[in-house]
Amino acid sequence: MARYIGPVCRICRRAGMKLILKGNRCLTEKCAFERRGYPPGLHGQPSRSPKPTEYSVQLREKQKVKQIYGLLERQFRGYFRKASKKKGITGEILLQMLERRLDNVVYKAGFARSGREARQMVRHGHFTVNGKRVNLPSYLIKEGQTIEVLDRCREIPMIKEAMENIENKIIPSWIEVEKDNFRAKVVGLPTREEISLPISEQLIVELYSK
Ligand code: SF4
Repeated sequence: MARYIGPVCRICRRAGMKLILKGNRCLTEKCAFERRGYPPGLHGQPSRSPKPTEYSVQLREKQKVKQIYGLLERQFRGYFRKASKKKGITGEILLQMLERRLDNVVYKAGFARSGREARQMVRHGHFTVNGKRVNLPSYLIKEGQTIEVLDRCREIPMIKEAMENIENKIIPSWIEVEKDNFRAKVVGLPTREEISLPISEQLIVELYSK
């Protein structure tokens, strides 16, 4: 399936919750979900659709994760397959892998204002990992690795603005940021408690176990 390029706020309204897809704007009164917290197309009328089935609830949970991390179906299935082959709780391993994507770490470290922006900046090659330039948003960061903004990219307005607001951002405990050096280090792997997503990953595991 092709990547969705329509208004992202519709995704939150359809999901029935704030998925924080636009970064700082999501935390202001401009948030579309705050102003119109009902599904698109209903014009404020309560939905007359029948009670959701177990399958539709599971499917919606998967769609939320795909939207949050900006993944296509094929990519998401690939992550699930890898997670299910590893020892441990599949749902948690899946989320941990997604959190370790380079674009997500760039966003969580405060170098970008949203996940989409982080993906774009990584694709444009603005970051290094342990000193080597990496332009793959899906690159999986390992514990101990350091991400840095390239010297010549530090004046890019998107990066500058993100860095100016970094103090207002809640950085997860598994990432240490040196703001003055435009550098972040992954000091551990995120546990489920540290992944503050409004997601029930078990529903996704059940969906793919059918
Ligand atoms: Fe979702 Fe953010 Fe749009 Fe609000 S502003 S509806 S949280 S993407």
